[in-house]
Amino acid sequence: MEKEARSRLERRILEEAPRLTRTDSFRFSCHPGVRCFGDCCGDVNIVLTPYDVLRLKNRLGLTSDEFLDRYAVVPFTKEQKLPAPLIRMREDEKKRCPFLDDGGCSVYEDRPWACRMYPLGFASPAAGSSEEEFYFLLEEEGCLGFSEEKTQTVDEWLVEQGIPAWDEMGSLYKKLAFDDAFAAGKDLSPKGIEMYWMALYDLDRFRRFVFESTFLSRFDVPESLTESIREDDTELLRFAFRWLEFALFGRPTMTFAEHES
Ligand code: SF4
Ligand code: SF4
Repeated sequence: MEKEARSRLERRILEEAPRLTRTDSFRFSCHPGVRCFGDCCGDVNIVLTPYDVLRLKNRLGLTSDEFLDRYAVVPFTKEQKLPAPLIRMREDEKKRCPFLDDGGCSVYEDRPWACRMYPLGFASPAAGSSEEEFYFLLEEEGCLGFSEEKTQTVDEWLVEQGIPAWDEMGSLYKKLAFDDAFAAGKDLSPKGIEMYWMALYDLDRFRRFVFESTFLSRFDVPESLTESIREDDTELLRFAFRWLEFALFGRPTMTFAEHES
C-alpha cells in the first residue's frame, strides 16, 4: 500500500472507525443474496499471512513457489522492514481476485485471514505504545452487509469465520514481525530478509533447506520433530518461526548438535 493511502487508512481507523470489544455487537451479514455479492473481491489489497499461503497452496495443490509465482505480488517499499505478499488481482477492468468465480469465493474454506475478518479489523499498537489492542468496524463504500438484520458479537463473528484456526500462527507471526529489536531500529540484512521470506512464505523451499543441507547435522532437532516437519506443513511453519527467532535475533530457540558446540 502506498504511504499516503496507508496513513489515510490509519487515520480512518484511529479517528472514525467504531472500536469494539469482543463482547460488543454489530449489525452485519454477507451472503449470496446481497446485491453487492462479490463486489468487494476486486481492486483490493489482500495481505497474505504465512498461514494463508500455507492453506491456499495446499488447497490448490501447488508448491509454495508455484503459488507465489501465480497468485502473489510482493511490493517491498523503503518504509517496510519485512516483505508481505498480496493476492495478485486479475488484470481485467475490475481487477478481480483470481479466486472469485460465479458462485463467489472458490477457496472459501481456505480464504485468507483478511477476507474472514471483514468488516472487522484488528489493531495492534506498536511495541512500547500505551494503546491497547482493539477491534474496529470498517464500513466500505457500497457494502450492503450493514443493512442486513443480523447482529452478532465480535466473538461470535470470529468463531463463525473460523478465525481461531489462524490464532496460533497469527500470534507467532505478530511476535516475530513486531519484535522489540525492530522497534529499537534493527534492520535485517538482505540475507536475513531472504531467510525470513523463505521460511515463512516459501515453505516447500524451507523444507528443502532443512532436509537437503547440513541443517539437521548442525542443530539438535529431535527425531519425532524431524519426522513431523517432513510431512506436516503446519508443524514446519511452527518450526520456521522458532528458527527465525534464532537466525534473525540470536534467541536461544535452537541448540547446536553436540559435535558443533
Ligand atoms: S460488499 Fe459487503 S456485503 Fe457485499 S459481498 Fe462484500 S462484504 Fe459482502
Ligand atoms: S480470496 Fe475469496 S473472499 Fe478473498 S478476495 Fe478472493 S474471492 Fe474474495
